[in-house]
Amino acid sequence: GHPALTPFGTTVFAEMTALAQQHDAVNLGQGFPDSDGPPEMLEAACRAIHDGLNQYPPGPGMPVLREAIAEHQSRFYGLTVDPGSEVQVTVGATEAIASTILALVRPCDEVVVLEPYYDSYAATIALAGGVRRTSILRFPDFAVDEASLRAAFSERTSVVLLNSPHNPTGRVLSRADLELVAELAREHDAWVVCDEVYEHLTFDGVEHVPMATLPGMRDRTVTISSAGKTFSATGWKVGWLTGPAHVVAAVRQIKQFTTFAHSGPFQVGVATALALPTERYAELASTLQTRRDLLVDGLCSAGLDVSVPAGTYFAVADVAPLGGTDAMAFCRRMPEELGVAGVPVAAFHDDTEAARSLVRFAFCKQEGVLREAARRLTRRV
Ligand code: PMP
Ligand code: GLN
Repeated sequence: GHPALTPFGTTVFAEMTALAQQHDAVNLGQGFPDSDGPPEMLEAACRAIHDGLNQYPPGPGMPVLREAIAEHQSRFYGLTVDPGSEVQVTVGATEAIASTILALVRPCDEVVVLEPYYDSYAATIALAGGVRRTSILRFPDFAVDEASLRAAFSERTSVVLLNSPHNPTGRVLSRADLELVAELAREHDAWVVCDEVYEHLTFDGVEHVPMATLPGMRDRTVTISSAGKTFSATGWKVGWLTGPAHVVAAVRQIKQFTTFAHSGPFQVGVATALALPTERYAELASTLQTRRDLLVDGLCSAGLDVSVPAGTYFAVADVAPLGGTDAMAFCRRMPEELGVAGVPVAAFHDDTEAARSLVRFAFCKQEGVLREAARRLTRRV
């Protein structure tokens, strides 16, 4: 394999989903919803196929989708982006992350990330020849630690790669957190790449604040999102990024030789979904909040300490009371022994000790499924 990727092995999501299937376990590991997104979105994609939109779309993305993305940024955040030069459609947020990092990071550049981090971050930084510098968010409140964040910056920092709402902790960065990152980024003349795939999945009235809306940050921020989370269509792999035109141009230079374009009918479907009324977005979040409460209650009933997430569709619990002092080993046994699958938070860490007995559970599942998971976890204690 590629020498830069030797340390990374198989992604934990594929491993845990395979174990869940093998043991017929309730799969709260890999994060994907078990119900379909808006019917208008599904119908629009089917119609596009029947209407013959079955050949290569433009590399930057279909105009109808780029316009819908620009309108979304304006409607929800008051951000003005030019659909022609400041929007790029990608194959999921995963490609947006990889192509942006490859565009902005030169060998030996440093990239600051909050740890735990989504697993593709470390691998793509390594592919670009960059060096990651991390600051740890610690259970149970996962607060940003100012001193360690400051210490992660140096004169070699070229990018800060942020994620809010944050996978796997469910933390939503506050305006004060973002202001601190913005100040450090300006001081070190670094780019901020902000992965906002869970932008619409926040609870209890907590508001997602895009980094690009902070004073002076629009011109040094690349914002990434995906239809997978917002519209429960992870398998469609429609993502995008918005940012200054010269960064988008650099991403396009890379993308033309990696994937060139994303499939057209799905882009049409997502354009339709993005244009849905604001109430429909809110409904998705409130359905999910009910499911969060169900899972958190279930985990608490099983005797676990849980960090209640303000966003995303994940909750982190300490499984030490179930015998999971080594969560990695525990997650490999759990599908067979308890009939439930989760993901060890250590898989998102360099410092695996910081997450020794922590497991991430996904709650983007039907209520009956979450009740069954809670029943299985509870009967064993
Ligand atoms: N970033 C984060 C934080 C994620 O959780 C995920 C998916 N779970 C992605 C990126 C990847 O998104 P996509 O499936 O659209 O590639
Ligand atoms: N992003 C999903 C998660 O965090 C998984 C995506 C994947 O399987 N690569 O669970």
